[in-house]
Amino acid sequence: MTCGHAVTPQSLTAWCRSLLDQGQHKFLCPALKEGTLQRCNAEWPYVEVRRLAVLTQEEQSHFEETMAVLAAAEYCEHKTVSFGKMLLYNAT
Ligand SMILES: [Zn+2]
Repeated sequence: MTCGHAVTPQSLTAWCRSLLDQGQHKFLCPALKEGTLQRCNAEWPYVEVRRLAVLTQEEQSHFEETMAVLAAAEYCEHKTVSFGKMLLYNAT
């Protein structure tokens, strides 16, 4: 990934799905920094996730819908720029 950590398509897909299930729409790298117990936490752009994960058409639309809903909810709560929508826009 952009942060330098390698992931398999299978683990990437599983990780992103579990993040969305937790209501998390940002994909943060779960790998540990070398020699520490700290997570890398680099944010993976959705375009990159979509390219590397093995998503069926159905999963892809599920991901995008969930991200849009979560991003919209966040927008209402914090009145910040809707980052998720921006990601979706860039992905098309
Ligand atoms: Zn990383």
